[in-house]
Amino acid sequence: MKKYLYITLVLLVVACKQKEKPANHKLQIVTTTTMITDLVKNIGGDKIEVKGLMGAGVDPHLYKASEGDVGKLFNADVIIYNGIHLEGKLEEVFEKMRHQNKKTIAVADAIDKNTLIASEYFASNYDPHIWFDITNWEIITKYLMHQLSALDTKNAAFYKENGEAYLRKLATLKITISEMINPLPVEKRILVTAHDAFNYFGKAFQFNVVGLQGLSTATEAGVKDVQKMAAFIMEKNVNAIFVESSVPKRTVEALQEAVKSKGFQIEIGGTLFSDALGDSGTIEGTYIGMYKHNVKTIISSLQK
Ligand code: ZN
Repeated sequence: MKKYLYITLVLLVVACKQKEKPANHKLQIVTTTTMITDLVKNIGGDKIEVKGLMGAGVDPHLYKASEGDVGKLFNADVIIYNGIHLEGKLEEVFEKMRHQNKKTIAVADAIDKNTLIASEYFASNYDPHIWFDITNWEIITKYLMHQLSALDTKNAAFYKENGEAYLRKLATLKITISEMINPLPVEKRILVTAHDAFNYFGKAFQFNVVGLQGLSTATEAGVKDVQKMAAFIMEKNVNAIFVESSVPKRTVEALQEAVKSKGFQIEIGGTLFSDALGDSGTIEGTYIGMYKHNVKTIISSLQK
């Protein structure tokens, strides 16, 4: 109730500050995750202004809107977010925005529900880490291309051209990633990470994916989970496990300790970008760079 009042109050304050839009107004877009921010910038280029709420290393499952965020959301022409409960703690704010007739777009709406991975961990009943299937990202690119064109018709041709250029890059990425993964024998394709972000990746490239924390980072792995996972690692002869940039290392380190205490060697194969890209301005700060980094990290550790 307290939160409800707080959001209402902030909305009232920013509503009073709103001004008329000038003729050369650029589409003001607020995005949530760094993956979505990157994609929207690729399509919209300099015809739009994008404010991403989450930066590198930020966990979207736990992210709460600050007062500043609520102001940004309210002043946006459109809010673009992942949906299917990835941004679990922002749902309430999005709902309030829709009540104010704010346009919101959940990119997950572009994906056929029959192709989503079911999950009991989320209120949506689906695993929200949809960006790790490149085909999903292609579908979402097309969807956003059309959505931006409809919202800003004078720049429709520009969005189409940029979107199509980006689709060609994604098609190339798919081939590159397949070529990187192909030499790794299927029995070595076991990906153990801090939380279950990689199920769509696993499905696309035949990896057995196991996360210590389940799908959301909202619950921590217990001692039992760590022991169970240690037994699994030894049984399957896995030689590397991975930390994630947006999840604290401690659970993966606890797992490494548990495995080592049984006299078995296991290395931490490196850091993967799961629910957030790398720092902006770096190669890993883009979706394509992030994907290549992850696969390179995974392959070089698991093929030993
Ligand atoms: Zn996640």
